[in-house]
Amino acid sequence: MRLRFPMDNQRVADMSLIDETGERYVRMAGLACVGSSHINGVARLHTQLLKDQVLKDYHCLWPDKIINITNGVTPRRWMGVSNPKLTALITEAVGEDWLNNMEKLSDLEPFADDASFREKWYQIKRGHKEQVASLILKRFGFVVDPDSMFDVQVKRIHEYKRQHLNILHLISLYWRLKNEPDFDMVPRTFIFGGKAAPGYFMAKLIIKLITSVAEVLNSDPVTRDKLKVIFRPNYNVTIGQIVYPMADLSEQISLAGKEASGTGNMKFAMNGALTIGTLDGANIEIREEVGAENFFLFGLTAPQVFELKQSGYHPLDIYHSNDRLHAVIDLIEFGHFSHGDRNLFKPLLDSLKFNDEYMLFADFQSYIDCQQKVNAAYADKEKWLKKSIKTVARMARFSSDRSIREYCGRIWQIKPVEVLSG
Ligand SMILES: *Cc1c(COP(=O)(O)O)cnc(C)c1O
Repeated sequence: MRLRFPMDNQRVADMSLIDETGERYVRMAGLACVGSSHINGVARLHTQLLKDQVLKDYHCLWPDKIINITNGVTPRRWMGVSNPKLTALITEAVGEDWLNNMEKLSDLEPFADDASFREKWYQIKRGHKEQVASLILKRFGFVVDPDSMFDVQVKRIHEYKRQHLNILHLISLYWRLKNEPDFDMVPRTFIFGGKAAPGYFMAKLIIKLITSVAEVLNSDPVTRDKLKVIFRPNYNVTIGQIVYPMADLSEQISLAGKEASGTGNMKFAMNGALTIGTLDGANIEIREEVGAENFFLFGLTAPQVFELKQSGYHPLDIYHSNDRLHAVIDLIEFGHFSHGDRNLFKPLLDSLKFNDEYMLFADFQSYIDCQQKVNAAYADKEKWLKKSIKTVARMARFSSDRSIREYCGRIWQIKPVEVLSG
C-alpha cells in the first residue's frame, strides 16, 4: 500500500489488517478481501454497496475483484420436492425437464389467460392452505379460514428485516376494525416464523410482541373472523418446504440497503406468492423479471435512506404527525397486548421513537397504503391468479443452476463434464 499510495497515510491506516485506532484488533473483512481471488456481491445492489461504501478502498486497489453473481435457489427442492402438485401442473403445461432448464418456464406465461388452468392453479394453492389450516387446528386448537389471504413472513428475526413493521400494519387493521364501522377488508391470516439469535434481546422481544398480539387478536370476537395471527417456532428448511407453497403474500420488507440478497423472496415467488417488498437485495431484480405490475412496491430506496440519515432523521416527528401510527404505538404502549403491562415492550417502542435505526416510521405510511392495494388486488381472484402464474413463469433467472453456472465461468474457471449414468 505504501508503494502504491506513498503519500496517503490515512488510506494505509484505513486498510491495515490491524485496526489501531483504539485497542488493536484484526479486521476480519479486510483479511478476507486480501485472501480471496474474488468477492461476490450476492445481488446487484449489494455489489454496488460493496464497491461504493463497505469495501471502497479495496475496490479502488483491485477494481476487478468485486463481482456480482445474484443468488439463486434450487428449483428441485423449492418446487419439485416441496410442491409436487404445482410441479406436475407446470409439467402438463410446458413439458418435461423444466426443473433442470428453468428457461422453459416462460412457456407457462400464456396459460395465465386460460380460465380452466387458473382454476387448477387456484385449487393447488387452496389445497396447501387447507392442509396447513387443519395442522393449525390440531396444534393450536383454533380455526383459520383457508379462503383468507395467507400473509407470510418467515426468516431470521432481525430488526432490519422489520417483522415489527408487519405487526404495526396488522395492529392498524385491528384498530380500524374496532373503530371504523365502515371499514372492510379481505380476511387475512398472518403467519410468522423464525428464530432469534440467543443473545439478541430485541429480536426476542419482537417474537414476544408477535405472540402477544396473536393472543389478543385470535380471541377477539369483533376481529377474529377477519384477522388471525400465527407464530411458528423453530422455523427451519423442513418447515419452509410446507410454508412457501401455501403463501399468497410474501413479505420482503427489509430497510433498503440492508438485505444482501434474500433467497426466501425467490422461494415464495417460485411457488406463486406475490411479493410486497422494498427495493432491497434481490427484490429489485425479482421485480424487474416478474414486472412492476406483479409486485407490490413500497418504501424508501437505498439512496433515499442514505440521504435521510445524512440530513437528520426524526422518527418522533413522524409519530406525532401520523395519527394512525400514533394510535397503533399507543395500543402497544398502554399495555393492550400485555395485560396492562406498560414496561414489557418499552425497550422496543423507545428504540423506535427515539432512534428507529431501521426507519420503520419513515416507511410506515407507504407500507400501509401498499397493503391497501394488496387487499384490493386479492379481492379480484382471477386477476390475482394471472399475476401469480406470470410471476412463476418469469422466475427462471433465480434458479441456482444459473448462479452456479456463473460461478463456474467467472470464478472457478471450470467447464461441465458429462456424468455417465449406470
Ligand atoms: C430460505 C430460508 C431462509 C432465508 O430467508 P430470507 O427471507 O431470504 O431471509 C431462512 N431460513 C430458512 C429455513 C430458509 O429456508
